[in-house]
Amino acid sequence: STSTSVANNEFLVKSTLPDIVIPKMSFTERLWIDQANFKNLVALENAETKKTYTYLQLQKYMATFATSLVKKFGLRPGDVVGIMLPNCPEFPVVAFGSLQAGCVVTTINPIYKEFEISHQASITEPKVIVTIQDCYESIVKGLRNAKINAKVIILDEPNQSGIPDGAIRYSEIAENGEADYAMLEKIERKEDDIAFIPFSSGTTGLPKGVELNYRNVLAAMECMQRDENRYSELANGTFQDIVPCILPFYHIYGLIVTLTGHLCTGCKLITVPNFSARLFMNLLKANEVSLLYIVPPIAILLGKHPEVTGEHFRNVRYILCGAAPLAATDAQAILDKSNNRLQFKQGYGATETTSIATTTFKNVDNVDYDACGTAMAGVTLKFVDPQTGNPVPVGEPGEIYIKAPVVMKRYYKNEQATRESMTEDGFFKTGDFGRYKPDAGLIITDRIKELIKVKGLQVAPAELESLLRSHPAVADAAVIGVPHDFYGEVPKALVIPRRDTKVTTEELQNFVASKVAPFKRIEEVVFVDNIPKTSSGKILRKDLKKIYS
Ligand code: AMP
Repeated sequence: STSTSVANNEFLVKSTLPDIVIPKMSFTERLWIDQANFKNLVALENAETKKTYTYLQLQKYMATFATSLVKKFGLRPGDVVGIMLPNCPEFPVVAFGSLQAGCVVTTINPIYKEFEISHQASITEPKVIVTIQDCYESIVKGLRNAKINAKVIILDEPNQSGIPDGAIRYSEIAENGEADYAMLEKIERKEDDIAFIPFSSGTTGLPKGVELNYRNVLAAMECMQRDENRYSELANGTFQDIVPCILPFYHIYGLIVTLTGHLCTGCKLITVPNFSARLFMNLLKANEVSLLYIVPPIAILLGKHPEVTGEHFRNVRYILCGAAPLAATDAQAILDKSNNRLQFKQGYGATETTSIATTTFKNVDNVDYDACGTAMAGVTLKFVDPQTGNPVPVGEPGEIYIKAPVVMKRYYKNEQATRESMTEDGFFKTGDFGRYKPDAGLIITDRIKELIKVKGLQVAPAELESLLRSHPAVADAAVIGVPHDFYGEVPKALVIPRRDTKVTTEELQNFVASKVAPFKRIEEVVFVDNIPKTSSGKILRKDLKKIYS
């Protein structure tokens, strides 16, 4: 059952799996296609509160939420719903319920502050935002800054008091109403209509909305089901996989791979709102976890932590690691603890490819843990010389280009960024550098785009630079990623201070920290006299990295 991709000519690596056929059905129909087999099983459990939803409950709440969007709020197909929630069973009610109402979903990191919310809201113009009480104030301020008038729905507990004036209770919207299935079934969405707008900074600049349409999302679902690594035997109800959801659902990996991919196959998802090593280890001990989706810092934790033993992996048959570079030794440490009883694979992809584009398939002998495997179904890879723009023969290093049904159509309302990232014949320019090694697959050797990845999460240097430049004591600033043992990378800022001002590096760090989510905090500020730039004013990040890493 080993599937490999091959070079089908000197310049292209093409998946040998049959092409993806996009099913002619709505997202909701596709999601529940096998549901009869598992409708009474638990779909989701909150790791902290232990609250659970069965599949039938999830289906009902989704439809109730969708009905409320249409009937109570008058939302129309194409209207945007923002979700600013930690991982919780209500997340898919809101995300997929919104799609069921024909709405478009934009996912917002729940630790974002006013400044970041404002940026995302001004681009996507949501009509409704669903959140938790802790985020309410930042959202109200962020919306006010962006001059957006959206209704805010707050997750509540039964009989909870103290809901802010003006906020709407989730329970009244999703749990207490009636679902109007007949009305919902009439809502039509076409392949080209937008489903999700997650955010990514892409190759350069500020975070942008990534326009993922139904073709992309349905293709990703088909793609994942072709990967036998994760395929679950729920079809006849014989075995239910247990999947901890520790990666955030607002990011493409958590949203598509963990959440969507495993609800449509009937798994039990345990949602973790706040990651901690202790909670995660307890969860692994207490549950018969069979599939694990992680990022490199978690792989390092599992491999290195002395208290993590084979016992934690006793039922795990497959681990997927992606979103940032992984060292083979970190994969090996986990395999050693598990006595090599599990399959450990890397996945490589991006928000712009609706999650994974390459992975190592099942039953491959001698897995190269440095490699990200072969093209998933429907995926074609090309390697391009960044200087000349010409493709190089397969096997030689170049910038990785991807063409596939999972590749986004465009950045949302951003023609310029789209033009810079997509070729005329539909390849997405990843900004990653690598080569294709026969048998092992894709080896990523460098990131040539400016993006910084902290714990697998995106940090856009341009965002931090513009914040720094807004400080009265800063004449100019450049932000680069420098290596970090556990986080992968952390941001470091080079700042030219204004002559007649006095400011300390700490003040600048605190200034940025007050505006952005904690993972974007600047680890170190260095005062410099000069920031090297090209004649067109682009910061020469490569040079800075050489000097300051
Ligand atoms: P995101 O859109 O946040 O998923 O970020 C996508 C970027 O993450 C890619 O363009 C790569 O730079 C990086 N990335 C994702 N998966 C891997 C991987 N397996 N190895 C190295 N880098 C990765």
